[in-house]
Amino acid sequence: MTSENVIETDGLTKEFKGFRAVNNVRLKVRRGTIHALIGPNGAGKTTCFNLITKFLQPTTGRILYNGRDITASRPHEIARMGLVRSFQISAVFPHLSVLENVRVALQRTLGTAYHFWKPERSVEVLDDRAMDLLEQVGVQSYAKLPAVELPYGRKRALEIATTLALDPEMLLLDEPMAGMGREDIKRISDLIQRVAKDRTVLMVEHNLSVVADLSDRITVLARGEILAEGSYAEVSKDPAVVEAYMGT
Ligand code: ADP
Repeated sequence: MTSENVIETDGLTKEFKGFRAVNNVRLKVRRGTIHALIGPNGAGKTTCFNLITKFLQPTTGRILYNGRDITASRPHEIARMGLVRSFQISAVFPHLSVLENVRVALQRTLGTAYHFWKPERSVEVLDDRAMDLLEQVGVQSYAKLPAVELPYGRKRALEIATTLALDPEMLLLDEPMAGMGREDIKRISDLIQRVAKDRTVLMVEHNLSVVADLSDRITVLARGEILAEGSYAEVSKDPAVVEAYMGT
């Protein structure tokens, strides 16, 4: 089916001991867009993100992925369906080289198919594909370096490469720019834009200038509910949004 929305939530609600962190959220993420989830501290962004990636189970409500109900699915099951959270399955192994990290991620995706097919070529084929991915994220010159020695921004790029190894249809990024300087922000922004050419991206991001630059569509949460939705130009001049940000 070719629904316009990759993700749709309906009545999504999460309570922690009676406190509603996410309240009746109806979120729609359109195919092929970069969609940002923003809002003041405590708005429910992380909880919402964890519900969609199935790291948390909703108290009530439904989550549809490509029209399919994934409310009861486990994180690894939805990852196999193509809905992948960066840094989820793809933790970086610090003492493996940059190239080996991507090779491991590819092996996980491809399983034993390559070995079965032509064992003597398997490493070579995987490494070609791994180098491709490293080039895409701009860390090819670090291929032989242990991952632990990568500068911070490049490590996040490597994490994205290991996620891309899973060939996701939709990428979920939890504060991809956290802790980054201006140069790294520029580099990761470019990368997200390239990745989003043939994928859908949903991200939680605090840096509003990044959100303004990257996002096609924005959902603003406050006190667990959707306060506004639209382009950056639209939501940034919404009085309710201005007030929610000023009030924190
Ligand atoms: P945001 O990411 O927008 O800052 P969160 O989703 O982290 O907001 O949190 C929303 C609200 O839910 C906050 O008031 C937070 O204290 C509360 N909360 C989040 N996780 C838990 C938890 N595991 N137990 C109890 N309260 C929680």
